[in-house]
Amino acid sequence: MTQPFSKNSRPNSAKAYARAQPLMPGGVNSPARAFGAVGGEPLFIDRADGAYLWDVDGHRYVDYIGSWGPMILGHRFPPVVAALEEAISRGTSFGAPTEAESELAELIIECVPSVERVRLVNSGTEATMSAVRLARGFTGRDQVIKFAGNYHGHVDSLLVAAGSSAATLGQPNSPGVTAGAAKDTIVLPYNDPEALAAAVAEHGDRLAAVIFEPVCGNMGVVAPTDEFLTALRSETRRCGALLIADEVMTGFRLSLGGAQERLGVEPDLTTLGKIVGGGLPVGAYGGRSDVMAHVLPEGPVFQAGTLSGNPLATAAGTATLRALRDQPPYARLETLAGRLEFGLRSAAEAAGVPFTLKRVGSMLTLFFSKDAVTDWESASRCDTERFGRYFWAMLDRGVYLPCSQYEALFVSASHTEEDIDATIAAAEESLKSVA
Ligand SMILES: *Cc1c(COP(=O)(O)O)cnc(C)c1O
Repeated sequence: MTQPFSKNSRPNSAKAYARAQPLMPGGVNSPARAFGAVGGEPLFIDRADGAYLWDVDGHRYVDYIGSWGPMILGHRFPPVVAALEEAISRGTSFGAPTEAESELAELIIECVPSVERVRLVNSGTEATMSAVRLARGFTGRDQVIKFAGNYHGHVDSLLVAAGSSAATLGQPNSPGVTAGAAKDTIVLPYNDPEALAAAVAEHGDRLAAVIFEPVCGNMGVVAPTDEFLTALRSETRRCGALLIADEVMTGFRLSLGGAQERLGVEPDLTTLGKIVGGGLPVGAYGGRSDVMAHVLPEGPVFQAGTLSGNPLATAAGTATLRALRDQPPYARLETLAGRLEFGLRSAAEAAGVPFTLKRVGSMLTLFFSKDAVTDWESASRCDTERFGRYFWAMLDRGVYLPCSQYEALFVSASHTEEDIDATIAAAEESLKSVA
């Protein structure tokens, strides 16, 4: 094992942070990066390659954030770099249709079982915002059900009990979200089919959609029960609401067809992001043909974007999806992540730290709680202070974990067994140090 870095070994990150703070709120452009949940100052990154990140002080880290999901094939995956170089030689944005957009759309429709037609946007937030608007336009109803601890981007009406950075910051309802925007959102506990049935019985005729994470990553990894999945489909069908699977994180990660393929769920609409852009800003929403026909210009539901379907972004997305389809990494990801799971379990047991660990495919969370985590209520009982100390102990040993207890760690196809074993060795020391 390499020596832990000394406390003052990141002078360049400290300088970069001091520069950024007066310029941007918190010195960052997304709160998840600010290390608010673990204390201390964020690292500034210089470059990345494969499974590694280098900070501006020249330290190398094994990366388990993967840009919060997109980098399933590792950083600077050669086919993505080549596709970007080819696309850039022909121009970066036209504001007119390109064949590259159809190429990415064809791939999405081929891979994701329930998606018959699709619209490309620029982020996961845009995808969920647009899908909810479409569901309301299609059904002519106002209300939406979401689940506590599920995050669907920073859409006003969905920024209620929203998990991850929202949860970590203790601000489930952001100032600036009006009572009007939140009043048509009903928040229910995850994995509670009875609560869902009761809400549908009461609000069913006003319900436009139920939106959910089919495997949660934004309160740490939480898996749905079979009963919950069955209820989601049957209750929405019964009352005529649309079922929206938010696969921004799980799409192309838990299998080529996402969580819906892995779990056998049949949503009406699906939202995508992260991997679909291969590291560039892309989101997408799609699903039933008859529903998608309501989107402008075919239908009346407005949704537009100056840079939607951008040539660079579609090139990176297409190269990524093609690689995932033609050389599926999923069996290897399962093996690598299983090896990591086993090592972390043994390390936590040896250290005597109370924990529960959940892994689905290449997504994993080590919760500092002795009880099973099945919903936001059980997740919120974790020892986040201990997580903060563990995070820094790992970072000092060259392992870059998500900087919050309530996030999923991602294994990529570029990780090697040696990377995993080095991570386990770091965890053995780190968990002992926080016991
Ligand atoms: C990341 C995420 C979003 C938001 O996507 P952005 O690209 O950050 O706007 C929405 N839903 C889920 C499930 C996510 O994990």
